[in-house]
Amino acid sequence: MTVPMNAGEFVLSLDFELLWGVRDHASRNSYGANILGGRAALPAMLGRFERHGIEATWATVGAAFCGSRDELLDALPPEELRPRYVNAGLSNYRYLDEIGRDEASDPYYFAASLVERIAACPGQEIATHTMSHFYCLEEGASIESFDADIDAACQMAARRGLTLRSIVFPRNQYADPHLESIRQRGIQRYRGNPGAWAYRPVAGAGQTLPRRLVRLVDAHTGVLGPHLYQPGGDNVPASHFLRPCAGRLATFHPRHLSVIKRAMTRAARTGAGFHLWWHPHNFGVNTEANLAGLDRIIAHFVRLRDEYGMASRTMASSGGQT
Ligand SMILES: [Zn+2]
Repeated sequence: MTVPMNAGEFVLSLDFELLWGVRDHASRNSYGANILGGRAALPAMLGRFERHGIEATWATVGAAFCGSRDELLDALPPEELRPRYVNAGLSNYRYLDEIGRDEASDPYYFAASLVERIAACPGQEIATHTMSHFYCLEEGASIESFDADIDAACQMAARRGLTLRSIVFPRNQYADPHLESIRQRGIQRYRGNPGAWAYRPVAGAGQTLPRRLVRLVDAHTGVLGPHLYQPGGDNVPASHFLRPCAGRLATFHPRHLSVIKRAMTRAARTGAGFHLWWHPHNFGVNTEANLAGLDRIIAHFVRLRDEYGMASRTMASSGGQT
C-alpha cells in the first residue's frame, strides 16, 4: 500500500504519576483505589498498544521510577534546591515521611516494575513528568529548583538506561525559562496546551469555574474545534484529554468519544496531528468501561491508518523524527 506523504499522526501520552500527581488534594484513603486500579489497568493498555502497533509516550514522575525509599531519598535534589511553594501543601517533599519502604509495601508511590514493563514494550517512549511533580507557575517555584528537579529526573532515567527526550509539565504549567531549561538538558519535545483561552497555562488559582466549564462543554461537543497541530515542532500540543468514564458524566461518554473520533478523522484527512492524553489512574475505577472506550478509539485509529495512512507516534517521534 502506498502511504500518502502527509497522512496525519495520532499521538498518545499518559501522565504516569501515582499519588505524586494528586497528593496536594488527595490521599491513599481518598484516591488509593484509583491509583491501584490504574496500576492494574496499565498492562491492559500496553497489551492493546502492542497488539495494534500503537506508540505512546509515558510521561513518568521521576520519583515513581524508584523501587525503594532509599533509592528515592538518594535521588532527590538537595534541600536548598527544592521548591518553596508559597502554598506549602503543593510540595511533594512535604509527604516524604509517609512513604513506605519499597514498591511491594507502597505501590502508591513506587512503580519501578511498571516503568520496566513499559520500557520493554515495543513503540513506547518513557518521558518525564518532572522528578517531584513540579509546579512551574506556582508562586515560590524558582527556575533553579526546576533545573535541579529536571537534572534529578534525567539522572534517574539514566540509571535505568533511558534518555529523556520529551516532557509533560505537571498541570500543564510552564513558561519560556522552563522551555529553555529542558532544551539545555536535551529534552526536545513538550506537550503544550490547545490554543483556546480555556486551555492556556495558569497556576492552580487561575483554574476558575468558567474555564473548567468551557473545557467540559468542549469535551462533549467539540465546540472549540478539533485542536489539531502541524507535526514536526518542539511543541506537540494536546488536542484532548480523554476523560474518565465515571460518575454522572458516564452517560455522556459516547459523545466525548465521538468528539475525539471526529477530530482524529479530520487530522487524517488534512495531514495534521491529533494528540490525546490521560492518566493511567483515570482508568482506575470503572476499568472495563474505560478500556472499552479506548478500544473504540483504537479501532477508529486502525481504520484511519488503513484508509489514509495515518501514523501512530510518540511525542519524540512526532513528525516522523527518529
Ligand atoms: Zn501530573
